[in-house]
Amino acid sequence: MSNQTYRALLVEETAPDVFARRVTDRPLADLPDHPVLIRVACSSLNYKDALSATGHRGVTRRFPHTPGIDAAGTVVASDDPRWQPGQEVIVTGFVLGMNTPGGLGQFIRVPGDWVLPRPEHLTLREAMRLGTAGLTAGLAVLRITGEIAKDGGPVLVTGATGGVGSVAVGLLSKLGYRVAAVSGKPEAANHLARLGAPELLSREEALAGQERPLLRPRWAAVVDTVGGSMLAAAIKATRPAGLVVACGNAASSELPLNVFPFILRGVTLAGVDSATGPLDRRAEVWRRLGEEWRLEDMEAITRTVHLEEEALEAAIAAILAGGVIGRTLVDLER
Ligand code: NDP
Repeated sequence: MSNQTYRALLVEETAPDVFARRVTDRPLADLPDHPVLIRVACSSLNYKDALSATGHRGVTRRFPHTPGIDAAGTVVASDDPRWQPGQEVIVTGFVLGMNTPGGLGQFIRVPGDWVLPRPEHLTLREAMRLGTAGLTAGLAVLRITGEIAKDGGPVLVTGATGGVGSVAVGLLSKLGYRVAAVSGKPEAANHLARLGAPELLSREEALAGQERPLLRPRWAAVVDTVGGSMLAAAIKATRPAGLVVACGNAASSELPLNVFPFILRGVTLAGVDSATGPLDRRAEVWRRLGEEWRLEDMEAITRTVHLEEEALEAAIAAILAGGVIGRTLVDLER
């Protein structure tokens, strides 16, 4: 196996702060010295992958690098007794695809603690249609179901056509919540209605009055993937004792806010960290995603690309432009 190579997307720094991407053969021997070697069947594209692929130092410090924060495949070799050759597994988060060669290559080598068995009722492809985006949405929804009653009022999802947003809309609707979606894509109204959000707000509508200290209380809960003014406006429009789950920063990592929603309405602001959160909670969300939370629409809202430059380039550009609707699966078996 020592001379073996595998296909991977490689991001290189060709001049200071200038990055280029190509699909190329990489030596298996160059993978890090971790105990579990996995042949990757499929991965997915997330916002963080687009940042890593374009040289974002907040995600990836050293180049050349292979992005891919998600991977699903089969164990090929393992020095960790918990994992056996032939076992189907998934790996998401930790620093996979950030500072360790990731799922946009046909092999990864990772610590045993990063690995989860394939969820019993999901195929590898189904798991990657959800990927980190689905896990993040699931963690947010788990929090909401624990604190907010279904008939407590509408739940707002921002960045609703993106990966996290689409899965959050689907899950909340399936669980009986009334869902309102914020999207910059009016043409996606049908997509969102099919997923379970009959009410669509434009970004302008969601931001209206944002300069005021508080807004009319509307939302029992919020799943925010956008950050910045959108998150601030959503918090100001959350009902007394409501719950806002901050998941992302697709627009901004800033939060221009005052304390009134917290001290006058008892609003809770919670966060989701899908990359380093406890493995047992992640496993619990993956189990639910395959069972009582199963979304039959995932195939319909996922496009598949292969490890091929043109398709990956287009998908990365779409994510960076905020133009994605649904999810992108990367098939590495061909
Ligand atoms: P996507 O690219 O799939 O979706 C992001 C969506 O956000 C877009 O489709 C768009 O939806 C909306 N959006 C993009 N730019 C703007 C903008 N400038 N202003 C308002 N809305 C915008 O990304 P993901 O769903 O994969 O990730 C979403 C966010 O969540 C990212 O910031 C990501 O880093 C973060 N994340 C966090 C995780 C965690 O563990 N906390 C894990 C996974 C992701 P629309 O057009 O419908 O408005």
